[in-house]
Amino acid sequence: MADANERNGGLDLMEPRYRKDDDESRTGVGPGDRRRAFTFERYADHLRKRYGTQVRRVPVDAGFPCPHKRPDGSGGCSFCAPAGSRSPQLDAVEGISAQVRRAASFAKRRYGPSQLLLYFQAYTSTNAEPDALKAAIDEGLTADDFRGLVVSTRPDCLDAAKLALLVSYRRPDFDVEMELGLQSSNDATLTRIGRGHTADDFARAVALCRGEKVRTTAHVIFGLPGETDAMMLGTIAFAVAQGVDALKIHDLHIPRGSALAASVLAGEMTTLCHGHHLELCARALELIPRRVVVERFTCETLDSARLLPKRQIDKARFYRDLDEYMERNGMRQGSAAVPTALT
Ligand code: SF4
Repeated sequence: MADANERNGGLDLMEPRYRKDDDESRTGVGPGDRRRAFTFERYADHLRKRYGTQVRRVPVDAGFPCPHKRPDGSGGCSFCAPAGSRSPQLDAVEGISAQVRRAASFAKRRYGPSQLLLYFQAYTSTNAEPDALKAAIDEGLTADDFRGLVVSTRPDCLDAAKLALLVSYRRPDFDVEMELGLQSSNDATLTRIGRGHTADDFARAVALCRGEKVRTTAHVIFGLPGETDAMMLGTIAFAVAQGVDALKIHDLHIPRGSALAASVLAGEMTTLCHGHHLELCARALELIPRRVVVERFTCETLDSARLLPKRQIDKARFYRDLDEYMERNGMRQGSAAVPTALT
């Protein structure tokens, strides 16, 4: 069998240095020793500190298409599923109020009393005329009691007028936040994966949000084709330097039918293993100042729609492993962060 690098067409998907057994023997701290030192800020803790209670997102699909895909679903980013980018929870497109009622009642049933954030998650949620965007938000907000609004979009699909509309919803007890897809800060990678925007587009969008004091979260993918560890960690440093407030990191998933699926089937690439992704996340956290929270490290895709990885990373296990790995190796969030003037 070919080794990993041969299978990857020479991509730098090196074997991770991470070895659980090595870690335990190196530090002498075993699994039974649970004296907890701070390793990284948990998103749930961050939310509890901010809101004083647990907070859940209610994901909705406004039905706005991705401007980067053709009407038949082809084109767009090479890692994007033919059906586009949307949560597996959003299996059927229905009216916004119906989506809110269904998702909010699920959240309350499963997690108990929580404050809710209305989350426009699917595709490119600002790809609409202002009137249509406003109508979608109004419909969502009247379907339940929300503490805030989170809108996910491409960095090249946000302008001052759309941001002003979103900011008009902000109140002392109602937050407005943006999520911006970066994926990589390397323009060569962005071109290779067909993102259709540059790192500068992302920097401009973050600056726009910062100008309006809107919290921003950057989406980053580890394991994109052609990316070395240094490039992935460079993306983290770039996002932090732009002044983002949060990051969502996940390992690359390759959906069946996507352009990258063809590369996998041709034996040109594969995806990161659990240990390599874990090591990258730990090293990334060292670069991320404590003012920036990492909202997630993994993602979920349907087994039936995913070509690789064969088994997706279990979120709860990953958190535990990451915490243990960082503790055993004396790693702390922000320990290698570059000081900036950003607050
Ligand atoms: S911008 Fe999002 S929805 Fe559009 S092609 Fe890329 S990943 Fe898919």
